[in-house]
Amino acid sequence: MSWGLYLHVPFCLAKCAYCDFVSYPYTQVEAGRYLWALRREILLHLAAGELPQTTPDTVFIGGGTPTILPDRQLTDLVRELAVRFRWPEWAEVTVEANPGTIDRRKLAGLRKAGVNRLSIGMQAAHPKNLSTLGRRHTYEDVVEAVQAARDTGFTNLNLDLIFGMPGQTVDEWRATIALACSLEPEHIAAYSLEIPEGTRLFRLVERNELEPCPEERELEMYQLLRQNLARHGYRQYEISNFARAGFECRHNIRYWQNGNYLGLGPAAHSHFNGRRWSNCCRIERYAAALEAGELPLAEDEQLDRRTQMGETMFMGLRMRWGVYLPAFRERFGTDARVAYRDEIRRLSERGLVELAGPYLRLTETGLPVANLVFIEFL
Ligand code: SF4
Repeated sequence: MSWGLYLHVPFCLAKCAYCDFVSYPYTQVEAGRYLWALRREILLHLAAGELPQTTPDTVFIGGGTPTILPDRQLTDLVRELAVRFRWPEWAEVTVEANPGTIDRRKLAGLRKAGVNRLSIGMQAAHPKNLSTLGRRHTYEDVVEAVQAARDTGFTNLNLDLIFGMPGQTVDEWRATIALACSLEPEHIAAYSLEIPEGTRLFRLVERNELEPCPEERELEMYQLLRQNLARHGYRQYEISNFARAGFECRHNIRYWQNGNYLGLGPAAHSHFNGRRWSNCCRIERYAAALEAGELPLAEDEQLDRRTQMGETMFMGLRMRWGVYLPAFRERFGTDARVAYRDEIRRLSERGLVELAGPYLRLTETGLPVANLVFIEFL
């Protein structure tokens, strides 16, 4: 069985204005407690004997900001994971990094420890946009980070971008795309900004101190992104993800194919064959459970077959090639075209999905309104 490994490192320099991820300001003491608990979690999983006999072939160390950990702590962690989980040499091993938390030394250590993909949080190029997001770095820091990554042998780089933020103009977004492309990453992920309740940005919008980006402008930015990245040789393979040929993120494709993965660390989610569970979010609870010798579970559920089928449909439709119908049939013993006859008919009539050989996929019309398609399968 093929599966992936995700590790959540819940520390950051400071909280960004739009962030509702589980992340805390980094302190040595908290990081020490977290790493101790994480090691216990790994050992408990391995001792339970519930993991597949096979080894993971994609690894994603995300956060938070994993690269906020000091050089030695971070490389020791990657090495320990590699020893415990024995992934093959050809595995895709990604680490998320933020500009300002990496230098040549840290990156060289990561390369040596087997990390072969780096995902850098660029988000925007214009200082005004970065300030709206509450990011602590500049575009120049991103240039430096990319240069350091290239110098230390990384040949698979992703840049994360955000568009549709309050006050952002289409020209600023155009410039961000151009500057991102000028750095020649192999992969670009670009998401429209969500402003979750409880965040600093949410409060500013609520008090009318910032105006959310109008929907039409956001759509214009999305289409601009697609056109410009296509011109630069990036193929769109998912709603928000673009890659040069052969550099699609295998770990994320696993999520969209509703595949199997183990998540470690606070707030991490796991999924194996319809069983889905998540870890508790707060570090204290996470660490306390492991100190007591228990897995730090917050939720644990066995999904029924219909739910698994629906999730496989709507997550698969995120990818440009869509849902591979023979694989769906093999997995669930039924043809998606029969199980979802009415939904597919309704969506086809509206021009939002289409059959393309053995795939069911979003049309060009369906792509920008994908959420309308997804709710049909919920
Ligand atoms: S770097 Fe990422 S995880 Fe950390 S605060 Fe900013 S958005 Fe949140």
